[in-house]
Amino acid sequence: MKLFIKDLAKDLLNGNTVALARAITLCESKKATDQKTASRLLQKIVPYSGKSIRIGITGSPGVGKSTFIEAFGKHLTSLGKKIAVLAIDPSSTKTRGSILGDRTRMEELSKDKLAFIRPTATGNSLGGVADKTRETILLCEAAGYEIIIVETVGVGQSETAVRNMVDFFLLLQLPGGGDELQGIKKGIMEMADGIVITKADGENEKRARQAQTEFQHALHLFQRSESGWQPVVLTTSALEKKGTKEVWAMIEKFYAHTIENGFYEKNRDEQNLKWFYESMDVLLKKKIFQSKKISSLIKSLEMKIRMGEIMPLQAAQKMVASIKK
Ligand code: GDP
Repeated sequence: MKLFIKDLAKDLLNGNTVALARAITLCESKKATDQKTASRLLQKIVPYSGKSIRIGITGSPGVGKSTFIEAFGKHLTSLGKKIAVLAIDPSSTKTRGSILGDRTRMEELSKDKLAFIRPTATGNSLGGVADKTRETILLCEAAGYEIIIVETVGVGQSETAVRNMVDFFLLLQLPGGGDELQGIKKGIMEMADGIVITKADGENEKRARQAQTEFQHALHLFQRSESGWQPVVLTTSALEKKGTKEVWAMIEKFYAHTIENGFYEKNRDEQNLKWFYESMDVLLKKKIFQSKKISSLIKSLEMKIRMGEIMPLQAAQKMVASIKK
């Protein structure tokens, strides 16, 4: 086993994509032995990770995420950058018809030797997936990927989870006027370091420019984030291959800005602490629920709550009191 981990780590650090894919599968495995192996492997490669720009990209289905990422990714690889695209797909296990997992997405980019694409089905626990995505980011970095894109569909909690693991958070929006603005959750706008209005071509071009102005105004109303960065709104057309260069220039500017004022490092430190606390939550719960005695106590408390015999808070206190030190 030691030899297996050593070899896998060596191949991965040499940028071997088969080894990388294998390592990710190991991290995603639910088997206890695999998890142990994955944990050892991670310890080995962690000193070689961390040196990438991590970008989160979100937007509603149909906004043009995969088309944008393909164009953006091709621009980055044309600059000689190695990029990894990790797609979190909250829909795939529920509906089987996945929003992001489709193999035909990003066809050109998937053939590019400098790009690595990996979809992740979230199953039912977003927390768990976020963990795996964090681990996958580290593995990709150790394999030499300089830019990591984490893509998620703008349909709920997944944005916050992604926000907590990237340096730069990009929101994609369709061209449209004020009506469009009403539709987005304020929280997601507040998380964005940049907004890209997609499909700014043909008849849409004028509307896209209008939307750009409106979003820029709206963003000015928010308090500046701790990074001291004023979010930027850009327009792109993946179809006409316009605007991707500018998006990369914006992210490079953000990177230089946050390196200089120390936010980059501070943010990563805080994200690590968040990871620590979230992992403790998950692992503690798992350990507690493993106990047969506690699970049967929980079942009986559940029944009592249903019968109105005990208040939910009191029941929770009883359960916690029953945990041995
Ligand atoms: P996703 O669901 O957010 O990944 O969206 P897709 O990338 O699959 O794009 C959804 C639809 O929008 C597809 O039919 C694309 O061809 C179209 N589309 C994407 N980007 C552009 C663009 O820049 N211009 C135009 N006109 N259409 C686009």
